[in-house]
Amino acid sequence: VIITQAVYVASAVEREQYPEVKMPEIVFIGRSNVGKSSLINSLTRVKNLARVSSQPGKTQTINFYALGAKGEGTADRKSFYLVDLPGYGYAKTGKERRKMWSAFIEDYLLHSPQLQFVCQLIDIRHAPMRSDIEMFSWLVRNGIPVLVIATKADKLGKNACAKQVALIRQMLGVAELSVLPYSSVKNEGRSDLLDVIWDTLLQ
Ligand code: GDP
Repeated sequence: VIITQAVYVASAVEREQYPEVKMPEIVFIGRSNVGKSSLINSLTRVKNLARVSSQPGKTQTINFYALGAKGEGTADRKSFYLVDLPGYGYAKTGKERRKMWSAFIEDYLLHSPQLQFVCQLIDIRHAPMRSDIEMFSWLVRNGIPVLVIATKADKLGKNACAKQVALIRQMLGVAELSVLPYSSVKNEGRSDLLDVIWDTLLQ
């Protein structure tokens, strides 16, 4: 799968600001500093794309990027939105703002008809944190498909990576959960992730 296009479309703090043109949505979520911007830049191969409007501590917005993809060796082309949600579990976020964040994000996650699945990013070096587990459980409870992506995979050796993936599965409580190790530095996991996205778009 080849990404042919990646452009920033919109930032939303309310429903009225969602893009008017509807396309399937692949959503990215994770704690601040998990490597979400790096992964989006790695996936799209556009440097600093994910920094257009997501400075930490600033207004928390849902960011939409329009992506074009082309199947390798076929004429198939698909368009979709990559949707970047604000980081959760951000210590510097005041209680009040965190509450607003939740309501707006939850509304989006629960009511977007275009949403295909959520990529939940977890740092491969650490056990999932309480906020990771709570977010995962909430998504599952609400019937939202989740692909867990274990970020910064280049920071551990092969065996350590496998061990951490097993730990993530155990702590999230799903033995057969798909966990995809990803390195934005080495672009490892990129073609696997693109394959998953592509298969979803073809359905
Ligand atoms: P965000 O807050 O989730 O958007 O996280 P960033 O993408 O800004 O990354 C946070 C920090 O982790 C930065 O210092 C990145 O350079 C680093 N980082 C992100 N992804 C990787 C990765 O795959 N490998 C390594 N070694 N570092 C990474």
